[in-house]
Amino acid sequence: MLYVDALAQRRSASQNVASLVNIRVTASMEVFETDGICTVGLHPWDVTQDWRDALDIVEELASEELVLGIGECGLDRQCNASWIHQIDAFEYAADLAERVSKPLMVHCLKAHDELLRVHKFIDPLQPWILHGFVKGADLARQFLDTGMTLSFGSAVLKESASLVEAIRICPSERILLETDSPDVLIEDIYAAVAAIRGVSIDELCEALQKTFEKTFIRDQLS
Ligand SMILES: [Zn+2]
Repeated sequence: MLYVDALAQRRSASQNVASLVNIRVTASMEVFETDGICTVGLHPWDVTQDWRDALDIVEELASEELVLGIGECGLDRQCNASWIHQIDAFEYAADLAERVSKPLMVHCLKAHDELLRVHKFIDPLQPWILHGFVKGADLARQFLDTGMTLSFGSAVLKESASLVEAIRICPSERILLETDSPDVLIEDIYAAVAAIRGVSIDELCEALQKTFEKTFIRDQLS
């Protein structure tokens, strides 16, 4: 049984866990190191007026074999980074993901309308994964309708009724799970989501491994 953690801040020591580790690139990054599969991106919290330099580094790293995706990139209305720079950087990053043919891991906080606008504007061929989804079924449906995949994290452990509904309506090929924190076990998130979806943990692991491979490792499969 393999638990795929679609957004990890640290690689799990367990052999039963495949962690896609998120690496935050900034313009001052000098050394790139990874001990396994990862995504590289300019997090909205890290956006400064030098955002283009950071994304040039991201573009260079995109050809590394272990880099499976671009991100986290996105929009966050609750952070201090300039909103205008965030939008410019996110549009550029989304276009970059198209150029390098890699999926985009999206961070979005209080900016869902703007995210939908950028998605429509870019009209991507690459998959977009909206990570850390904590909203209800209505918003989930809007994103699923655009073709995005939703990734759920530790919020599933809190048993919010609206989030449960969102988890239930995701088709299995468009849902992923993540820890996004060293303090959470991916096994606990799988157990909660398996119960919500009325499947065994085994079945969920198998389904999400397929989703992960289809989303991130498409070249090898086709
Ligand atoms: Zn995030």
